[in-house]
Amino acid sequence: MGRGLMKTKRFLSALLIIWGRLCFKRRIPILLYHSVDDSGSVISISPEDFKAHLRYLTREGYETISLNDYLEYLLTDRKPSKKMVVITFDDGFKNNYTEAFPVLKNYRFAATIFISTDHIGKTCSWERDKSIPELPILTWDEIEKMSDYGINFESHACGHRYLSKLSESEARNELMRSKSTIEKRTGRQVGFFCHPYGDWSEQTKLLAKECGYKGAFTRPGFSSVSSKEDLYDLRRIGTAQFSCLEDFKAGLLGTYDWYVNVKEFLGVRRFRDLGIEELRN
Ligand SMILES: [Zn+2]
Repeated sequence: MGRGLMKTKRFLSALLIIWGRLCFKRRIPILLYHSVDDSGSVISISPEDFKAHLRYLTREGYETISLNDYLEYLLTDRKPSKKMVVITFDDGFKNNYTEAFPVLKNYRFAATIFISTDHIGKTCSWERDKSIPELPILTWDEIEKMSDYGINFESHACGHRYLSKLSESEARNELMRSKSTIEKRTGRQVGFFCHPYGDWSEQTKLLAKECGYKGAFTRPGFSSVSSKEDLYDLRRIGTAQFSCLEDFKAGLLGTYDWYVNVKEFLGVRRFRDLGIEELRN
């Protein structure tokens, strides 16, 4: 990105931060990370940037809460009394253990990792964007170590497939088998599901509910802390789209997605590198 463009972006982000602080009631952002590596892929964040995010959250007094705690706030319409955030990762890359876990421990932060159980101990050999290298996935040993520490593991299905393209029985199998496998391995209840590729339908939402999940994640965005929210259409803020800390700050306040959506709506392609579809991987 050119220097001029970067400056413009920084300025816009600063405006979005001010606007977010002025206009928005306290909310609980749910952050979405994937891989913590230097590849620059559409789902990667560098270890340095990841540290910078957590450092900022600490400095601003954010407390991380689990998805179960988040659900409590949502179901009871209780507004958080202080700044809270939920940190999640998708796919269970090995670098979540080697790069992210030490940083999370250092800042005493909680996190949730959504894993695809058929890929544990293997690689992300599923269909993916060209920019994403075939990265190694966590082993059960690493998952158990992180789980013992307090990191939560939830379901990202078994084979990382497009759920809406499967038959009902295949989709049901993905939902149930992944849940029971993680529960057996970690000894903890699995309550949340995250659709691979953000590929969901009314039927997959219903199936997630039928298979005993308390909530399911679908597309990028910002879920409000309200009992009116659809628990099977929960949304998170993709962090790989942020190219500087200012973007991250605006993302936390919920104004950044608005900005990206307006740009998309107006068909402005100059900021294409911020595209939200990229986060569907
Ligand atoms: Zn995924």
